[in-house]
Amino acid sequence: MNITSTTKLNNGVEMPWLGLGVFRSKEGEEVEIAVKTALEHGYRSIDTAAIYENERGVGKSIKASGVPRNEIFLTSKVWNSDQGYQSTLEAFEVSLEKLQTDYLDLYLIHWPKGQRSVETWKALEELYKKGRVRAIGVSNFLVHHLDDLLPHCKIVPAVNQVEFHPELIQPKLLEYCQKREIQLEAWSPIMKGNVTKIGTIQELAKKYNKTEVQVVLRWDIQKGVVTIPKSVTPERIISNADIFDFELEPEDMAKIDALDKEKRIGGHPDKINF
Ligand code: NDP
Repeated sequence: MNITSTTKLNNGVEMPWLGLGVFRSKEGEEVEIAVKTALEHGYRSIDTAAIYENERGVGKSIKASGVPRNEIFLTSKVWNSDQGYQSTLEAFEVSLEKLQTDYLDLYLIHWPKGQRSVETWKALEELYKKGRVRAIGVSNFLVHHLDDLLPHCKIVPAVNQVEFHPELIQPKLLEYCQKREIQLEAWSPIMKGNVTKIGTIQELAKKYNKTEVQVVLRWDIQKGVVTIPKSVTPERIISNADIFDFELEPEDMAKIDALDKEKRIGGHPDKINF
């Protein structure tokens, strides 16, 4: 395995196990340098969203990198206020224009919004059928949201991007998605940097001679979860990708599994008011 290794989605499309997240990376120089650094050091997947307001910088940096577009896996997401059939189709075009591309690799419904997400999903299916996006999926969907959406799907979501880290593992959701070949993808995988403060992970970092962050990102991949750590710090972007030269033993995987506290950093998908 290496930084370009992929998982095959349920429609055959290959998605890198590791990508760069850009939530809160500022539009302009900040996000541009982050994307540039990542691409220069082998990353081939970038995760943005309309609401991050940095799609222009992401697009500009990808263009300037010289890396062929078809070697990059680019994800964006439709924001809550744009959900609905027609508004999603329009929001998609706006994202493409900002990203300076004519297709996306993955387009996600950012948060579940009840019946409106069924209409949104129909728009995503339409975009998929037209070849505008190579895979479609959801984000922040719990089991009950998927139970509600799946009966309306002609195309089963390829990905569910959710909060996932040592203190929020959601094993039932992971099992549910794995059974249906919906690839789970971890957001806030390193707890915004706070995995460095967890004793068990500090011990494992010493044992494997890796950083705490590298141990946790490696744990993601060994659990079969795609991971997209965010950083705007070049040294961190580089070191976060250095996770392909070691393997956690089963007993150490279990030690991290045991840290689950069902503790969220971000909003609960049933309680958000945005
Ligand atoms: P992460 O868990 O990836 O943590 C990012 C934070 O950790 C930043 O403050 C970063 O600082 C710091 N950091 C990065 N690398 C290191 C390191 N090696 N050592 C110490 N600290 C480090 O949080 P995010 O919430 O950003 O999640 C990752 C991505 O997931 C997002 O960027 C976004 O793409 C996606 N996401 C999706 C959501 C959704 O609803 N679908 C919600 C939230 C996130 P610095 O940048 O200063 O280096």
